[in-house]
Amino acid sequence: MAVERTLAIIKPDAVSRGLTGDILRRLEAAGLTIVALKRLRLTREQARAFYAVHRERPFFDSLTDYMSSGPIVALVAEAEDAIRRWRELMGNTDPQEAAPGTIRRDLGLDKEKNAVHGSDGPETAATEIPFFFSALELN
Ligand code: UDP
Ligand code: MG
Repeated sequence: MAVERTLAIIKPDAVSRGLTGDILRRLEAAGLTIVALKRLRLTREQARAFYAVHRERPFFDSLTDYMSSGPIVALVAEAEDAIRRWRELMGNTDPQEAAPGTIRRDLGLDKEKNAVHGSDGPETAATEIPFFFSALELN
């Protein structure tokens, strides 16, 4: 398994509740390395562009309003098998279905406000990382 990179986001519900440090600690404790990180607030249009793959889903408007409702922390994490490992740390999309000890189970509020995002595969990571970070920020 090669070293790979994934895009992670600490979503507005988690940033606003002061959970950034807890989430970064979990990520680092699991052996992933933070190679780039920033705090920002998406516009509604930027959130809609980021989640464009979901534009036909019933939750799209609510999701993108929520994702643009306050600051987020976006980061790139690197490790062997980083994409799968970060998704395992996050847990199921629905916090109520997520395994004990996962970020979403411990910190998520509901299926929408579920604390964190992670790329779902190498192709997704390859488009999501440059959405937030320039080549200059990714040395
Ligand atoms: N989402 C939602 N309702 C749903 C499914 C998803 O509000 O029924 C939101 C949730 O914030 C989720 C995001 O849309 O994290 C993207 O959905 P996806 O199916 O890609 O889940 P993920 O990959 O984040 O687990
Ligand atoms: Mg997804």
